[in-house]
Amino acid sequence: MTDRYAVFGNPITHSKSPRIHAAFAEQTGQNLAYEARLAPLDGFAAAVAGFRDEGGRGANVTVPFKEQAYALSTSLSARARAAGAVNTLTFAADDVLGDNTDGVGLVNDLTGNLGLDLAGKRILLMGAGGAARGVMPPLLEQGPAELFIVNRTAAKAEELVALAYSQGVGATLAAGGYADVSGRFDLVINATAASLSGDLPPLPAGLFADGALAYDMMYGKDTPFLAFARREGARCADGLGMLVEQAAEAFFLWRGVRPATAPVIALLRAN
Ligand code: NDP
Repeated sequence: MTDRYAVFGNPITHSKSPRIHAAFAEQTGQNLAYEARLAPLDGFAAAVAGFRDEGGRGANVTVPFKEQAYALSTSLSARARAAGAVNTLTFAADDVLGDNTDGVGLVNDLTGNLGLDLAGKRILLMGAGGAARGVMPPLLEQGPAELFIVNRTAAKAEELVALAYSQGVGATLAAGGYADVSGRFDLVINATAASLSGDLPPLPAGLFADGALAYDMMYGKDTPFLAFARREGARCADGLGMLVEQAAEAFFLWRGVRPATAPVIALLRAN
């Protein structure tokens, strides 16, 4: 029997997740099929329930459904609860287990593939949607000197910080709007959807410390944020490594086998 998995999003045609999981399955000898499914904007829960009824074993969840996936999970991992967002669902007998692998995916890319040590660093995280929520707790675990969360709608960034404080973390955490961004940062992460529409959030010049890294979670094309960062002298990385690393963590949750990520990142870059 081939076990079935899917990724749900809207839009979804751009998704590389089916190729990544196919490569992991081939590499580890796992018998599974993984497809991309478009969920209607007002029909996410029904789409997931339908896939489960067809025999689906689990699913990934992408824009804009991660908070809805959190709501429909009947049990949550600690990191999903801390994030308030879910990107990986596992279907058990009567349960839907919700987890969030975005944060560990980003941290593994930053510290493993890109060789960063985040302890004592100043980090600026742009955005307060599902992706930002997912990466906030694992970034804090790395012991940065400061994590400043900035969002177009400042109140949403402030809510995120309040959530972290209420869970007993966040001594180095602060939030605000773009007008509140000041000083120089060692790492600036774009977790907004601005790159999808070709927009650049209103960042001040002189933002990057010497040797700083600019990280755009978007992948597959150059973005206004990375172009800005390059002009400002920062090192740049896109989100392809994060994508493969979060997928590897989901694959491990579902199959109990940890695939090697470097060959899959190389394969996607070559294409
Ligand atoms: P959401 O829709 O949940 O959140 C979008 C966020 O972007 C909000 O904070 C929103 O601000 C902000 N935003 C949207 N447009 C603009 C703009 N023009 N200027 C400034 N801010 C803007 O999306 P996600 O958090 O799920 O995803 C965000 C991005 O991260 C996407 O591009 C996604 O593809 C990418 N991603 C990549 C991953 C990877 O593995 N590489 C994993 C997860 C996500 P406001 O609150 O004011 O509306």
